[in-house]
Amino acid sequence: MCGIVGYIGNKKASPILINGLLRLEYRGYDSAGIATMEDDKIVVMKNKGRVSSLYELEGIDDLKSTMGIAHTRWATHGKPSKENSHPHMDNSNSFAVVHNGIIENYHELKNMLKNEGYKFLSDTDTEVIPNLIHYYYNKDKTDDNNKLLRAVKNACNDLKGSYAIEILSIHNKDKMIVVRKDSPLVIGKGYKENYIASDIPAILSYTKDFYLLDDNEIVELTRDEVKFYNQDLKEIKKQVTSIDWGTASAEKDGYEDFMLKEIFEQPRAIRETVGAKLDNGCIEIEGLDFTKEYLQSVNKIYLVACGTAMHAGLVAKTVFEKLCKIPVEVDIASEFRYRDPLIDEKTLTIYISQSGETADTIAALKLAKSKGAKTLAISNVIGSSITREADYSIYTHAGPEIAVASTKAYTSQVVLLNILGMYFAEKLEIIDKDLMKKLKADILILPSKIEEVLKNTDPICDFAKKVYKEKDMFFLGRGTDYAVSLEGSLKLKEISYIHSESYASGELKHGPIALIENGVTVIATMTNPDLVEKSISNVQEVVTRGAKVLAITSEDIKNDGLNQVIKIPKTNEFISPILSVIPMQLFAYYISKEKGLDVDKPRNLAKSVTVE
Ligand code: GLU
Repeated sequence: MCGIVGYIGNKKASPILINGLLRLEYRGYDSAGIATMEDDKIVVMKNKGRVSSLYELEGIDDLKSTMGIAHTRWATHGKPSKENSHPHMDNSNSFAVVHNGIIENYHELKNMLKNEGYKFLSDTDTEVIPNLIHYYYNKDKTDDNNKLLRAVKNACNDLKGSYAIEILSIHNKDKMIVVRKDSPLVIGKGYKENYIASDIPAILSYTKDFYLLDDNEIVELTRDEVKFYNQDLKEIKKQVTSIDWGTASAEKDGYEDFMLKEIFEQPRAIRETVGAKLDNGCIEIEGLDFTKEYLQSVNKIYLVACGTAMHAGLVAKTVFEKLCKIPVEVDIASEFRYRDPLIDEKTLTIYISQSGETADTIAALKLAKSKGAKTLAISNVIGSSITREADYSIYTHAGPEIAVASTKAYTSQVVLLNILGMYFAEKLEIIDKDLMKKLKADILILPSKIEEVLKNTDPICDFAKKVYKEKDMFFLGRGTDYAVSLEGSLKLKEISYIHSESYASGELKHGPIALIENGVTVIATMTNPDLVEKSISNVQEVVTRGAKVLAITSEDIKNDGLNQVIKIPKTNEFISPILSVIPMQLFAYYISKEKGLDVDKPRNLAKSVTVE
């Protein structure tokens, strides 16, 4: 959940490490720390709170080393505190470790080590790792170049759970070891220097060349070399992947916050995600080669994801069912994996995860795969864990999303899922050619319609200023307007800390209307011409009970008692959420700003949820 950075080269390490951590802050953190190899000893500096607080530590400027490891922590075991923050050392101060993930059997290992005389200074699961490495290092009587590597491998064999680990050891003063299993980690390759990070933006300003690690690979880094080993310590070769993201795309580009920048990046994100998929006669999606026969054999589609990505799945349910006539279930990954879902080899399961590292979604995929289902991953990160597990992987090209609250990743997922549904329908030959032509045209013109929506921010900002002190709000919609309302409501909760609920408009009279009283704020979305009449009636029900209503619509509705009407361009019901979510994203954003909150780093939330 946290961030990891590492450096070995000829430059002073500490500024590189701290700068990398600052870039990773969005991943969620409660404390930070670094360890560098200073002459004959490892020096650890850590602190609770923000990464920048490391600069305040006495002696930080005196660090001279050109190699070190660094960490931002998102506590899973032991409260956020200086003692619990990483790096952690073994009892002999010979091994320093930073760790991202959870060691599930740490109790057992801690007891074993305690019986061997080891003492523990923190409440973390992580602290067993350096001690376990020390334990195996001491037991090994062969003194050769691979002794540290062997100790790390033996320690890892004992670990259950997820980990990305960096190790510094005084026994090898010009070498660093890293290893990963179910937690993200990349290696950046430079000239006579090498970098380590949890993800690419952290070190993108230093290198564009990366090695992507697979589970259980162990890496040995020196200034000149990066060597990869499998679990049996057999050396393996890996290819360099060159990343063409500009550094600027990982920075704010002059916007006040990453979230605002990312909201405004949506036309580009959609354009890049659509890419050339619709350019030729038939839809082509790189990485997919489904046949008509296979798709005809599919008895059910599961769309599995968490949070915002799950909301993208809810939109796609309508797309797949209406265009492909295949029943679709949308599942929350953490529920799916424990509810023994009905899956067989005729089931197609689709997983959506921006980071591609969402622990629950990856576990859900592994479960379905073990039951024989085909698995297809949708991610924004090439080479991410989920894409390496899945039978098929396709990508949104939204670029790095830094703000914790997802915006451009959501709209990119919705458009990609739409294209996927159309691709299936085309293969199945069950879609009317004229309808297909229209749907394609609607998608191609979408970026310019988003630009149009983004020009009309003032009324949303004004409305937000009027209601930002409220404690509760309600979102209403029917069909895909309901699916997108769930996302609007989540956005509001995430960054403004206002309680909100989203209801299918027709459900109102079955309970929630009891909560509507004078002054309550309601966001009503009405974009589907077939449902607009009914939706208007529902809105009138809340207006007559005194609600303040912000209506988002593409239809020509009468402004009967509505406080603010946001007009968006017309499009089809499958992609209308891509337009209607934008006023909702902005609404949540302006409320958060008005309340003086940290928009990009909302409390208690982390960007990639790599723990269960
Ligand atoms: N489980 C470890 C801890 O609580 C690491 C958490 C993280 O990934 O930051 O310290």
